[in-house]
Order: sequence, then C-alpha cells, then structure tokens
Amino acid sequence: MQLDAKIPSGPLSEKWDKHRFELKLVNPANKRKYSIIVVGTGLAGGSAAASLAELGYYVKNFCVQDSPRRAHSIAAQGGINAAKNYQNDGDSIWRLFYDTIKGGDFRAREANVYRLAQVSNHIIDHCVAQGIPFAREYGGLLANRSFGGAQVSRTFYARGQTGQQLLLGAYSSLMRQVAAGRITLFPRREMLDLVVINGQARGIVVRNLVTGEIESHAADAVVICTGGYANVFYLSTNAMASNVSATFRAYKKGAFFANPCYTQIHPTCIPVHGTYQSKLTLMSESLRNDGRVWVPKTPGDKRPPNQIPESERDYYLENKYPSFGNLVPRDVASRNAKAQCDMGKGVGETGFAVYLDFKDAIKRDGKDVIAQKYGNLFQMYEKITASNPYEEPMMIYPASHYVMGGLWVDYNLMSTLPGLFVLGEANFSDHGANRLGASALMQGLADGYFVIPYTIGGYLVGMDHSDVTTDHPAFKDAVQYVNERVKRLLAINGKRTVDDFHRELGHILWEYCGMSRNDEGLLKARTMIQALREEFWQNAMIPGSDKDFNQSLERAGRVADFLEFAELLVIDAFERKESCGGHFNEGYQTEENEAKRDDENFCHVAAWEYKGDDTEPERHIEPLVFENVQLTQRSYK
Ligand SMILES: Cc1cc2nc3c(=O)[nH]c(=O)nc-3n(C[C@H](O)[C@H](O)[C@H](O)COP(=O)(O)OP(=O)(O)OC[C@H]3O[C@@H](n4cnc5c(N)ncnc54)[C@H](O)[C@@H]3O)c2cc1C
Repeated sequence: MQLDAKIPSGPLSEKWDKHRFELKLVNPANKRKYSIIVVGTGLAGGSAAASLAELGYYVKNFCVQDSPRRAHSIAAQGGINAAKNYQNDGDSIWRLFYDTIKGGDFRAREANVYRLAQVSNHIIDHCVAQGIPFAREYGGLLANRSFGGAQVSRTFYARGQTGQQLLLGAYSSLMRQVAAGRITLFPRREMLDLVVINGQARGIVVRNLVTGEIESHAADAVVICTGGYANVFYLSTNAMASNVSATFRAYKKGAFFANPCYTQIHPTCIPVHGTYQSKLTLMSESLRNDGRVWVPKTPGDKRPPNQIPESERDYYLENKYPSFGNLVPRDVASRNAKAQCDMGKGVGETGFAVYLDFKDAIKRDGKDVIAQKYGNLFQMYEKITASNPYEEPMMIYPASHYVMGGLWVDYNLMSTLPGLFVLGEANFSDHGANRLGASALMQGLADGYFVIPYTIGGYLVGMDHSDVTTDHPAFKDAVQYVNERVKRLLAINGKRTVDDFHRELGHILWEYCGMSRNDEGLLKARTMIQALREEFWQNAMIPGSDKDFNQSLERAGRVADFLEFAELLVIDAFERKESCGGHFNEGYQTEENEAKRDDENFCHVAAWEYKGDDTEPERHIEPLVFENVQLTQRSYK
C-alpha cells in the first residue's frame, strides 16, 4: 500500500493556510447532524472534544478515569513551547521548526512540524484567554524558560504544574459544552474495540469499568486521543492507567502503527530503588536550566557529594557539549548518563544515578528564586527520597517517559482507516525519533484546538453517509470479540499475578530495547516476549468477575495488549538498521558514540500493517522528503 501523507503543495510556510482554504467546509446548520466520538480527555482529547462541540458537532467523549481532569496530561510539569520570541533572544517559527526537526534526528515530516511551530503561538493566546495562570515577569509579561535542544527560552510554564493548569483550561471548555448539551461524557469507559463499516471507522465498543457492561457507540467519525504506551516498560513516569490498548486494537482493525521503536527515555527521573517499585517519578527537564549534572571523576568514589571537591567532579555534559551544556536533548543526556554509570562513575546505592546540583544556582540567585521556580519539584523530591535538594544534589537516572511512535496519520491527522483520526501522544506525527522537552503539550493542543477542527470537516463532507446504528452486525461482532476476550482472561485461573508478568516484560524491554539496542539482543527479546506471552495465557491470575468493578481484569487486558505490542516494538527496532534519536542501535554509532543515521536507506517512516495473530506484520514505508532543511549529523557541541 502506498502511504499518502496528503502534504499540501506550495511553499512550506503557506501549506497550512492553503490547505485550510482548500478543505471543504460543513455549513453551520449541517454540523449538528454529525456525531463524533472522541476517546480520551487529556490535552489532546479534551481540547478536540471542546473545539468540535463549539463548532456545532455532537460529541461523545470517553475516558477511563472518573473525571476528565484525571487524564495523564495533568502530570506534565515543565512547560509548553511556543515561538513567541518574547525574550527577544532570536526565536522564530522557523527556529522552532528547525530545532524540532533536528531534535527528532531528521525523522519527522517537514510540513507537520512547520504547522506545529506556526500554531504554537495561537495556543498560548488561546490558553491565556482561558485564564491559564502562566508564570509572568515582574512587569506582567509571560515568562519563559529553556528546555533541551534549544538555545532560546521559549517554554511557557505554570510553576511545575503546567499540564494541570492547561488541562483545567481544556476541561472548562469541555464542561461548557457538556452543559450546552453538545458533549456527552462517558467516564470510566475503556475502549476495547473499533468498529469499521464499509471501510470507515463508525464506532467503538467500550467496557463500563464500574458495572462491567459492554456498550456500543456509533458515530460518523472516531478520534482517538488515548496517549502513549511508555508503560510497556512497566516502570515509567506515565500514569498507571496509560496503555496501548485503544491504539493497538485499532491497529488490529486496519490502522497502521508507525515507528513503535521510537521511545523516549527521560534523563532526569528519580532512580529505581527497589524490586517491587511500580512507578518512577519525573524530575522536570526545566531543572536543567539551573541544575548542573555531574559525576565523580574517579570510578567507585563513594564519598558524599558535598565532600567531593570541584576539581574531582566531572560536569560531563558541559564538558562534552559546550554549546548546549546541560540542556542537550533527552536522548543525548540519557545515553551520556548511562555511559558514565557503565564506566563505574554512577552514584548512590545502586551506582545507577548521576547528580543534578543546584549549589551554584542557589549561590548565584538565592534560595528564594530557586524555590519560586521549582519549589514544588524540590518538595516532591524530598518527600520521595528524604533528601533535601537545597542542601545536597538530587540523584537522577533515565527512565521510560514518552513515545514518539503511534498510529500513522496523514497531514489531516487521519489514520490509514478512513474516519479514524488520531491526536496527541497516540499518533506518531511530529517528533521524529526524539521529542524535545515541552513539545508534547504543544502538539496535543495544536492537534485538538487548531488542526482537527478544520481537517475533520473535510472528511465528513465527503464520507459515505449511510445511516449506521449499533444494531449493525459489525457492532455485534465487535461486542462478541470483546466478551470472548474478557471470558478468556477470567478463565485462565493461573498462579502468577498480572503485575509480575508486566514487570518481567518491562525488564526484557529495558535490557534489550531500552537506551541502547543491538541486533542480537533484539532477537533474544523477541523470543523472550513470545514465551512470556504464552505463559501469560496459561498462568495469569485474574480474580473476580466481569460483571462489576474489577481492576485486575482491567490491567490484565492492558498487559495482554502490551505483550503483543512489545513484539511489534522489537521487530520495528530490529528492522531499522541505523541509530536515530531515541533508537540507538550499538551497531550504528559515530566515533564519538553518537547516533549514526543511514539517510540513504532509512530516511522514512516505518508503518506496520496487522496481518493476523500468527502472521508477520507487513512493513510499509513513507519516505521523508526534506526540501527546506539539510540533513546533517546532529551536533550539540
Ligand atoms: C511526568 C510527566 C511530565 C511531563 N511533562 C511535560 C511537560 O512539561 N511538557 C510537555 O510538553 N510534555 C510533558 N509530558 C508529556 C505529556 O504530558 C504527554 O505527552 C501528554 O500530556 C499526552 O496527552 P494526550 O492527551 O495525548 O494523552 P493523555 O493525557 O495520556 O490522555 C489519555 C486519555 O485517554 C484516555 N484513555 C486511555 N486509554 C483509553 C481507553 N482504552 N479507552 C478509553 N479512554 C482511554 C485516558 O482516560 C485519558 O483521558 C510529561 C509526561 C509525564 C509522564
């Protein structure tokens, strides 16, 4: 199949305007005749549902939590990028575009990224109008800080709670439409299948997580905004409920899955400290504005940090990358932390940690200034580790955090299945092989507030409008599939907990498909995942019934999907014979141990087509064409 990204013709800076003009419009009176399902209420789903309802469409909005406000987006700490250039430090739409393309190691579509940079400025205006309490300078102007992979300050923030404040803004808009009767909310519902009729996405099947009832919902289009799959690694910074199920089930119904091997390991997380730990905590990248990363120069130096003199410290990022210093992109910072620990210079009990030190910043700016910027993050760190970061350096280590892979979408954010749109972290669209900090919130809100409201109309006017209800046989088949799968899970009656399987899966991926990968390890991982999956279906212990609230059953379904998806992730990593961004195959590195791309053979998106449970998935490619930037070896020196 030829993947058509539907990139508009014309100069880069005019593509989006031109496209918006050329897209067919649905007239206001007709909009109310269309119903749209939006799955997810995070920043992508919440903003999309609110905007579509504001336009006049009827929206059904689903989430697994009890309130849309509990979507994982609420966890976002550090900030959201925009090319406002309020700092007068040289920023521009072009620079944000270029930084993002380069940050993603030249594996993203130019047209999408340029549009993202363009609409980034509208997002800030929109959110300010909603009343988001962004940090301000003394004189009242919005404040900015810096994030990795950029030499300008373009990140807007609300202390360490940016995601929460942005989500409250989207939620307010959403609830306005709920009150107006144009959105119906379906909390505590888990999408377990997509319904495709005459080649078009026309509905979903969900499980009511409180009553256990299986429900069908029909619509004219389906918009999936279910977030990322970083929890496939078991330990991650994501919310416990983050999963791959909705996107993976859509994949099984014909939507292609793009670049699953592009996963992001964030350099500044609180290190793992126990076998039975179930969650990792992020220390926002914003901390690298003022914190300095270092390790002792001598391997095995176990002295407390404050007893190690300056001359015996290695500020390895500042030394190796003088231009970007501690603000190199995440993939680069993570790999370097790992390299230091592999050399025996790691600190803490396990030796898998490096220091993030605020001593100099406190000396320079004073404790109050640092507390104003990062107070809640310092408090969170102290609560978890019982160590006071104002007095001794934080200990940090990379952890699974975000995914750049996701369902393949074209320029309109439509998947390979007509009528199925995918937004936010659930799609693969804008970040290439590595995402720059503060760009996920930007992308989720760009997709929801500023892209889908235009592009979905273009689809709706041209679609096949046959009337579809949940009595259609395709709904009955999907309900039967979901019921049978639930029954199969409950019938296993084994001895090993679902969490235990998930933990082992996470270990396999972290070991063989984590910060660095190699062909031998990837092959081994694939065999291990297959064996683990087989054991899961024979020995998983899932107590309770399907007729009421049963969190073991919920988790079992998600882990079962992770066990299948993990194999696709590993296959994708194996087939990409190069290193780029977060995908670092040891066989492909420069003399300085940086990722070495193969632009001749791999300058493309890999999109996988499901071919059946016992058949190899088929790899399709979308070549990436760069007309405006020159492909170079990424350098942050
Ligand atoms: C700790 C942390 C800090 C971060 N900080 C930043 C930051 O400072 N800046 C930045 O740009 N990015 C940050 N990120 C990344 C960013 O938060 C996420 O990428 C982004 O919020 C994802 O938004 P989303 O709307 O795509 O998905 P989510 O917010 O994950 O929302 C997913 C929604 O889908 C629903 N859902 C999921 N599965 C199903 C299903 N099967 N059926 C029904 N509903 C389902 C959920 O209930 C939820 O409503 C951070 C991430 C983490 C983990």
